[in-house]
Amino acid sequence: MHSKRSFDALAWLDTMASEKIRIETILNSFYDRTDINWDILRTDLLHPVCSGNKFFKLKYYLLDAVQKNHTTILTSGGAWSNHIVATAFAARSCQLRAKGIIRGEKPLKLSQTLQEAQSLGMELEYVSRVHFKDGENPSPEEYIIPAGGYGQLGARGAGDMLNHVEAANYTHILCAVGTGTMLAGLAQAAPNCRVIGIPVLRYEAIGEEIRQLAPQTNITLLHEFYEGGYAKKTPQLVKFMNDFYVSTGIPTDFVYTGKLMFAILQLIHKQYFPPGSRILAIHSGGLQGNKSLKKGLLVF
Ligand SMILES: *Cc1c(COP(=O)(O)O)cnc(C)c1O
Repeated sequence: MHSKRSFDALAWLDTMASEKIRIETILNSFYDRTDINWDILRTDLLHPVCSGNKFFKLKYYLLDAVQKNHTTILTSGGAWSNHIVATAFAARSCQLRAKGIIRGEKPLKLSQTLQEAQSLGMELEYVSRVHFKDGENPSPEEYIIPAGGYGQLGARGAGDMLNHVEAANYTHILCAVGTGTMLAGLAQAAPNCRVIGIPVLRYEAIGEEIRQLAPQTNITLLHEFYEGGYAKKTPQLVKFMNDFYVSTGIPTDFVYTGKLMFAILQLIHKQYFPPGSRILAIHSGGLQGNKSLKKGLLVF
């Protein structure tokens, strides 16, 4: 019974994905090129908490956990982690318990992300260094989802984002890169597209970690768009996010999708894309992370 209801919950989230996710075309006037088409896959519309790529990266792990009769999901992340709060929501939907290992000391005041995770029933534990190894189950009840959903099952799920779009219509697919799991999955699901990742932090081994998930040769990483580093921002980035919202009506987050869209605009202006290119940018969600910003910084 337990597992039947869990499967139903995942099917429900999949159905919701089909209903909510849509494609939007950015008007040429925003980027001043009529020979390039720029579309956005709005997976951020899936759910305010379990948004974008996080649901997709989680789903095959959750199925695996249910099939193997685990009752608790164990995963880790930082205080503003989209992955933590998405896992809290998805595990609860599947009637699984969830435990989040949070990097760092327990703060005096929990971040909104952690408050939300806790209110979704996730048990939080704080460690200065993550003490469990991915793939090593500490108890028979517990099922580990690697931080950020990194792994084959995560990549496979991320590839399912392209079930909501005709990938063959595009020459280039672009996404933000944290662990690279999403990029690996997209490259596998769209072998005929050039799939370009925009890393949001400086991390030398990222190329190798992505190759371990996907040996595909249709992957390109462009490393010049960190905008100060992970979860950091520049005034230019903030201005871009506001301009982008005013012009397109599309909100972005400052950790991932803001940097991605800003990178795409700069690449278009640098003539990176040949005439006739048809670009698909993945809006991978993450908007809850903007709650960590000072009020009034963003116009949305
Ligand atoms: C986690 C996250 C990413 C990074 O995905 P990876 O698979 O870890 O590379 C990108 N965008 C958003 C909004 C995210 O929350």
